[in-house]
This record gives sequence, structure tokens and C-alpha cells, in this order.
Amino acid sequence: MLSPKLCGNSPVVCYEQLSAALGITLSVKHDDYLAGAGGGNKVRKLQYIMPTAAQRGYNALVTTGSAQSNHIRAAALMAAQQGWHARIIVHEAEPEKYLGNLLIAQLAGAEISFCRREDVAKAMDQAMDELSGRGLKPLYIWGGGHCLEGAYAFYMAADELMKQCEGKLPDFIVHASGTGTTQAGLVAGFQGTSIQVIGVSVAHDASRGASVVRDSLNQLGRHLNADYSAVSLQFRDEWREGGYGKVSDRLIATIRRAARCSLLLDPTYTGKAFLALEDMVASGEIPRGSRVLFWHTGGLMNLLSSPHFVS
Ligand SMILES: *Cc1c(COP(=O)(O)O)cnc(C)c1O
Repeated sequence: MLSPKLCGNSPVVCYEQLSAALGITLSVKHDDYLAGAGGGNKVRKLQYIMPTAAQRGYNALVTTGSAQSNHIRAAALMAAQQGWHARIIVHEAEPEKYLGNLLIAQLAGAEISFCRREDVAKAMDQAMDELSGRGLKPLYIWGGGHCLEGAYAFYMAADELMKQCEGKLPDFIVHASGTGTTQAGLVAGFQGTSIQVIGVSVAHDASRGASVVRDSLNQLGRHLNADYSAVSLQFRDEWREGGYGKVSDRLIATIRRAARCSLLLDPTYTGKAFLALEDMVASGEIPRGSRVLFWHTGGLMNLLSSPHFVS
């Protein structure tokens, strides 16, 4: 696979106030600051998915997500950057106002349509045919950028982090986990180290979530000629706070507290992962004094368009 030229590395920042408050050494891998398309883990995935496809002659994409999907925004912006046509199927009703990610996707020039969730597959197939009919060569990208290249991007990101740590590896890495692609890549990338990767679910229950991570990990293993079948996974579902996109008072309190220490989190993804981190430190599951790296996967637009925060 090609190496990415578009977005560079993301910084690692030490948070001293939060470290002192929690009794750990807390650093943050800021994928939310990845350059090029509004940041976040979707940019990291797409920076492998799209150049690899461009080499094979693709010049358009068809993809899907919710109206506040970080993936649709990153796909629209990266398409604009590469001169691709972007066709985006949003699997919910058209909102009255275009905010956040949807607004950016529209500004970037994506062709956006709306349908019911159960009609997505058909709408995507139709869009593929339509674009081919216009003489384009469209790439079909699954929602969330869930694919081998996406997992590979995070396998390579593990290497990026290890170089940045200069020998001082964290004991724990905590991150928000959805489709499993990010976690699969990180777990594979940190094999052979003592780092424990803890994925915090934003949607799936533990058994379903672990099985999607496992599938992604096996696919990556086949590509890398590595056997990950004996690797144990930590996919935790205790901080879903009612389910995907739902919030709790505790979650809101965590987001407000972190923001006062200059760490911006969002209610859909990173806020839940950070709440989990706080609880695991409080319970001793992550012992005091540990080196903990919070892998920040993005989500600022989710914060800025959240009815729980926008007043
Ligand atoms: C999509 C997303 C995730 C989940 O990533 P997966 O690779 O699907 O597990 C986490 N955080 C943010 C901000 C996201 O947009």
C-alpha cells in the first residue's frame, strides 16, 4: 500500500493538569489535528484508501454515513483535494439546517442525497451506476472507512507513535471504538510491545464489538502475513451511556471538565472514551502512576453541532 503524502503525522501532547488531577501521566495522540480534511481518524483511513485507489485510476467516490458523520466530511474534503467527484448517501432524513459535518461536506462540493437506512445499499449501488454512466470511475467506500486500508492506516500509525515516544512507551492506550477498524490496526501495530490497547465502545455491545474488531484484525493479518488469532482484545461497552449518539450527565460533566484543561472532546466518540479512562483510573483498573495515552480520534464537529451543547 502507498504511504500517505497528504496529512503528515499527528502530534502527541502531554496534559499536565489532567495528569495531576488523575494521578497518571496522560498524553494525547492528536489525530483530531491531522491536516487536510478537518482531522480525525477518518482522515487517517482515507489517506490510505484514496491514494491507493487513485493509482488504479479511480476518480470519484460513493460513500455513506449519518448527517453528522465525520467520515462523510473527511471523504468530501479529501475528494475536493484530489479532484474527485464525491457522492454521499446520508442514511437519515434531510435536516432543516445544515450544520457541522454535513455543512462542510456540502461546502466541499459533494453531491448529497438522503434516504432511509434500509435503502442505503440500493441507493449506493444506483449512485455507482450513475457515476459510471457519466464516465467516471467511482470507488465504493463503506461507511466509516471500514476496510483493509483503514485498518492498515492504524497499523502504520502505531509505528508513527512509537517513533514519537522515543523508547518511553505508554502502559495503556485508550480510544473510542466503533466499526473496529481503528482498534484492529492499533492492536496489530502494538503486537510485541507491553502496551494494552483498550477500545471503548460508542455503539456495539462487547460481544458484537469484539467480533467486528476480530474480523478486521484477521483481514489485516492475512494482508501482513501475520497470525493474530491468539491476540486478546479489550473492547469495553460500559460507557455507551444509552447508545450511539446518546449522552448522560456524567458524560457532559467529563467533556466540560476536560475542556477547562484545554482538552476538547465530543459527545459521540471521544467523550465516552475519556469517561471510561477516568473511571478505569478511579477503580484502579488503570493503576495510579501509569503512563496512559489517549488516542484522540476527532469529533470536534460533533461537539459543535450537538444540541446538548449548542444553546
Ligand atoms: C468514526 C470515529 C470513531 C470510531 O472509529 P472506528 O474505526 O470506526 O472504530 C472514533 N472517534 C471518532 C471521532 C470517529 O469519528
